[in-house]
Amino acid sequence: MRTPVEVADGVHVATSVLDMTTSTVLVHGDEALLVDPSWTPDELAGLADWLDHRGLTVVGGFATHAHHDHVLWHPRFGHAPRWASAVTARRAAESRQHLVSALGDWPADLTPLVGRLTAAEGLPWPEPVEPVVHDAHTPGHTALWLPGPRVLIAGDMLSDVEPPLPEETGPSEYVEGLETLRPYAERAALVIPGHGHPGTDVVARWRRDLAEVSGPR
Ligand SMILES: [Zn+2]
Repeated sequence: MRTPVEVADGVHVATSVLDMTTSTVLVHGDEALLVDPSWTPDELAGLADWLDHRGLTVVGGFATHAHHDHVLWHPRFGHAPRWASAVTARRAAESRQHLVSALGDWPADLTPLVGRLTAAEGLPWPEPVEPVVHDAHTPGHTALWLPGPRVLIAGDMLSDVEPPLPEETGPSEYVEGLETLRPYAERAALVIPGHGHPGTDVVARWRRDLAEVSGPR
C-alpha cells in the first residue's frame, strides 16, 4: 500500500498494488471512517499502522458495493459498524461464501470479517456524507458525496483506468445510475474512483462512461 495521501481536507486515499484499488479514509479530529479498505492483508495491516501512528480511532466503515475487493476489514480496525446500502448489505450476506472464495488464500483471522455489513440510510459521521444509491455496476452500488470538500467517492465508476462494467445489472441501469450521479459529478471538485487515480476531470469521466455504456448510436 502506498501511504495514504490527503487529496482534500480530511480525505485521505491509499492505493493498493492490486488493480490500483483505493481505500478512502475520512478523518475528523481523532476519528476515522474507512471507505472500502483494501486490499492485501499486508496493506490492511499497513493501514492499521497508519491509523495508529496518527492516533485515529475507526468509528465506522462503508462498503460501496458487494464485490470481494470492497468488503474487507482487518481485526485492528476494531468493531465499529460497517455500513452499506440495504441492497449491498443483503447481497453481501447472501453471497458471503462467494466473496470469501473470490479472495483465494485469505488469512484465517481476516476471513470472518469479509462482507459483514449493516444497512444504513445515512452515516452517523460528524460531517455531512450523502450516500447516493443506484444500480450501476452492481445492484445497490453506492457513491458517497461529501458536500463540504465537494468530493465524490464513486465506487467502481468514473475511473481513469477501469472501463464502465455494466454486465451485472445491464447498460440501461448503468445509464440510470450515471444520471443519478450527474448532479454530484457536476458539482464535484474531485472524484475518487474505486480503482485508479483521484481526478478533477469528473464531468469528462462521466461523459466518457456514458458514451461507452450507451455505445454507438
Ligand atoms: Zn466492483
